[in-house]
Amino acid sequence: MEISIIVIAIFLFGLVWGSFLNVVAHRFALGKPFFTNRSKCPVCEHVIFWYDNIPLLSWLLLMGKCRNCKNRILFLYPAIELISGLIFVCVFFKLLPYFSPFHYFISTDQLMVDSMNFSSVIPDQVFLRGLCMLGAFFIFFSALIAATRSDLEAMVIPQLFSLWLVPLGFLFAYFNIISISIKASLIGAFIGYFSLWFVALIFKLVTKRDGMGVGDMELLALIGSFLGPLGVWFSLLIGSLSGLLIGTLYLIIFRKEMTTRLPFGPFLALGATFYFLFDKDFIRFFFS
Ligand SMILES: [Zn+2]
Repeated sequence: MEISIIVIAIFLFGLVWGSFLNVVAHRFALGKPFFTNRSKCPVCEHVIFWYDNIPLLSWLLLMGKCRNCKNRILFLYPAIELISGLIFVCVFFKLLPYFSPFHYFISTDQLMVDSMNFSSVIPDQVFLRGLCMLGAFFIFFSALIAATRSDLEAMVIPQLFSLWLVPLGFLFAYFNIISISIKASLIGAFIGYFSLWFVALIFKLVTKRDGMGVGDMELLALIGSFLGPLGVWFSLLIGSLSGLLIGTLYLIIFRKEMTTRLPFGPFLALGATFYFLFDKDFIRFFFS
């Protein structure tokens, strides 16, 4: 099959899935019942019909306004849909060596790193392993996207998108579905949780205020269980730097108080995404 068709299909699927994640994250973050009949406009409660509910496209056609009451639709909706589409395309490209015979031959060294001896494995098994990995990281990135949406909207990260999925990371590592060992997965989750717990403790002792939410610790534990200790450190590094930069700009542009609380989860998710996509480059840059 033509690769461009696969990429477009994954992107479109990502848009639809992102639209579903929007709904799940919104309802869990605000403690609304999950199973309700129809999507409604939060302002006028007008039922949203399917043709006004097409990911990205409807938002563009309606120019960001409800058809009935003309109130603005939260920008988070199309943004999360677009991000989902883009992320799942990136995840596919990252795992492409497992799916393409051409890539299989040019990047065997990359496959070798994955702690299994691939020289004796037939490509069929490589393909199967690629599918399993795709499934595992599909769950992981869905959780990061839902956590991002909840944190941006309500400053909470429901445990369904973090702590509850940590055992899944252990399981994937144990059965060799993701590239880290079970030891790295356990240590990653532990370091993820307690590094932020420690930062929060110091922050509280110094400023007498709560700076870090438990949700951030639980999210970093999830990142650790899927990406290992190095993933935790790089997510923290990139997350802190980008959070500091974007947070400062936000405070200046919107003239907020310096004590305004900002969500940290989306920045951790951003760091984890960068580490997942460019882990080999990061390791090469810092450790060689
Ligand atoms: Zn409305």
